[in-house]
Amino acid sequence: MQFEPVIGLEIHVQLATASKIFCSCSTEFGKPPNSNTCPVCLGLPGALPVLNRRVPEFAAQLGLALNCEIRLDSQFARKNYFYPDLPKAYQVSQFDRPICENGWLEIETESRGKSRIGITRIHMEEDAGKLVHAEGSDESLVDLNRAGVPLLEIVSEPDVRSAEEAKAYMEKIHAIVTAIGVSDGDMEKGHLRCDANVSLRPHGQKEFGTRTETKNLNSFRFVQQAVVYEIERQREEILDGKTIVQETRLWDTDRKITFSMRSKEEADEYRYFPDPDLPIVELSAELVETFRKNLPELPEAKQQRFMAELGLNNYDAKVLSAGREMSEYFEKVLTHGAAPKLACNWIIGDLTRVMNESGKSLSEIGLLPEHLADLTKLIEKGEISSKIAKTIFEEMLVSAKTPALIVEEKGLKQVSDEAELGRIVDELLVANQQQVEQYRTGKTQLLGFFVGQMMKQTRGKGNPAVINRLLKEKLDV
Ligand code: ADP
Ligand code: MG
Ligand code: ZN
Repeated sequence: MQFEPVIGLEIHVQLATASKIFCSCSTEFGKPPNSNTCPVCLGLPGALPVLNRRVPEFAAQLGLALNCEIRLDSQFARKNYFYPDLPKAYQVSQFDRPICENGWLEIETESRGKSRIGITRIHMEEDAGKLVHAEGSDESLVDLNRAGVPLLEIVSEPDVRSAEEAKAYMEKIHAIVTAIGVSDGDMEKGHLRCDANVSLRPHGQKEFGTRTETKNLNSFRFVQQAVVYEIERQREEILDGKTIVQETRLWDTDRKITFSMRSKEEADEYRYFPDPDLPIVELSAELVETFRKNLPELPEAKQQRFMAELGLNNYDAKVLSAGREMSEYFEKVLTHGAAPKLACNWIIGDLTRVMNESGKSLSEIGLLPEHLADLTKLIEKGEISSKIAKTIFEEMLVSAKTPALIVEEKGLKQVSDEAELGRIVDELLVANQQQVEQYRTGKTQLLGFFVGQMMKQTRGKGNPAVINRLLKEKLDV
């Protein structure tokens, strides 16, 4: 029997506000445990929340970017449950009057091409604290620095049909939230967490099957792996004649499996009710219109512009437009006079490799856009070969010197002087009579051998174009 996967995703996005959602405590990461706290986020009796105005503003901006209707009078609700990281024993969230509803997002994959994923709703809520299970101890510690950090939860319709689409969806959400600046999108710090709801149904069947929800997937790769696993697991269960139970599962990153955390039957009676401490969140229609007008260029539009105006191909344009930091960096390199394709190759090639290897962001690597631009210009002018450029690039990562200075200090300038190169070519031909013979009797692929020898003789500094021309002139007599 053939099955079709049906997938709906819930993504929690941490907002880029300086302070928490209902108090003035800092949201800064990595502070000593419980130092970013006050009576409000500690949930002390009698403390009253005051909404951070940036939160509904960010929510509305994201809603607009995801084609949602924006509710001008949304409401906070209490979601009641007990857990040691939740001192109030309820989480302030939104229930029946969320700030955004009925949107959509278009994604593109190899397997299904373009597809439109419905956005059911986006609501505002506060994060919970964190339990720390200290190693070698049977105690658990509570850190409430994260309690009250503002989140948006984006709930999709069950429109996703494969693990590949689930990953593409999460990547697109990441690209959009960072492009409009509502989140820093730092995956390492858990700024984007995805819950994947997965079910199967026989091909052609209209009704959905029973779903499981795999929680807290905090990387694009984990979402893809967990969905692949869950589809396969459910397929095998069904083929074995078993029934899927609705349950919450977790992803084990080491063993690469999902496992049951709790079944839904016993869970989830949150007794939502409107939070009496918080007034209706009123947004004016004018403010929403202002947001709509001022929405920054979205990744999709940026990709199209990179293709139309700069002549980049689909792939390059997509990679460069996906993250705000990278696209801004790329455009800065261009303002310093770099050729788009060359700048693109360096950024998505060597620079991305360095980012991946070091785990650093572009700003942490600190390579100045003007230095990268200068490097590409030296290559274009033929002053250095692309091989030498790699050496200079590595040096720039550690020394903050301009490429021109590195070229000068290390004597890396490309040798284009015809007389000098011609002399070396002559010597080479004399020293390799046999190969010259073979070349002249038709084995012209030996040209590569001669070019290689020339690069060796010039220690990579010979201008390949001049070398090629001189070799041909002297061999083709
Ligand atoms: P809950 O409140 O229990 O999380 P919701 O009805 O709000 O349940 O749905 C949560 C998510 O599950 C949504 O993203 C939705 O698209 C998805 N979903 C609902 N039913 C299914 C199903 N049968 N298969 C896959 N995903 C589903
Ligand atoms: Mg859910
Ligand atoms: Zn606080």
